[in-house]
Amino acid sequence: MPRLVLASRNKGKIKELQSFLADLPWQVVSLLDYPEIPEVEEDGATFEENAIKKATEVAQKLGLWTLADDSGLEVDYLHGAPGVFSARFAGVHGDNEKNKEKLLQLLTGVPWDQRTARFRAALAFASPDGQLWTTEGECTGLIALQPQGEGGFGYDPLFYLPEWGLTMAELPEEVKNRISHRAVAMGKFRAYLEKNAGRF
Ligand code: IMP
Repeated sequence: MPRLVLASRNKGKIKELQSFLADLPWQVVSLLDYPEIPEVEEDGATFEENAIKKATEVAQKLGLWTLADDSGLEVDYLHGAPGVFSARFAGVHGDNEKNKEKLLQLLTGVPWDQRTARFRAALAFASPDGQLWTTEGECTGLIALQPQGEGGFGYDPLFYLPEWGLTMAELPEEVKNRISHRAVAMGKFRAYLEKNAGRF
């Protein structure tokens, strides 16, 4: 079975990405299995640029096909922030509690109709010899007035889906994995893998 590396150490993200690939004929591993690989600096201006950088650097270092997801939250009232800075919005990379606090603070007093937002995910799939394929997915919602729910990760407790009447963190895992930005992008990735199965 060919091996596919997920270019991430984010456990929430890895768990979701693995669930989309579980039934495919690939051995899926992540950077948690390769502690010697250094962090890739995410200095791109877009999710796509960062995903491409992560996928190509890791594919070259490990000599394996690599999938990278770069994702985040865009809030319209904040002109698209936190965007590519989602993981380090409050300063420290991966401090989800502080990131959510900062977001709520910046939206204090902002009415519902101006709390529109979207999660976006860019995927890049790279080979060690320079082949590259990319795609994107998005999911729209509103920023809640307070965190609600225990599921998912990151900003999920603040991402309210009016059509469900729940935050992303309150949705059953199976539903998040059907409707999220990552689910949309991973659906396209699965179709690509199936169509190109002979190439890997
Ligand atoms: P990345 O690892 O640089 O792509 O950072 C992604 C960051 O965006 C995460 O740390 C979260 O803060 C946020 N994010 C991305 N996807 C999700 C999601 O599905 N739910 C909640 N937050 C997310």
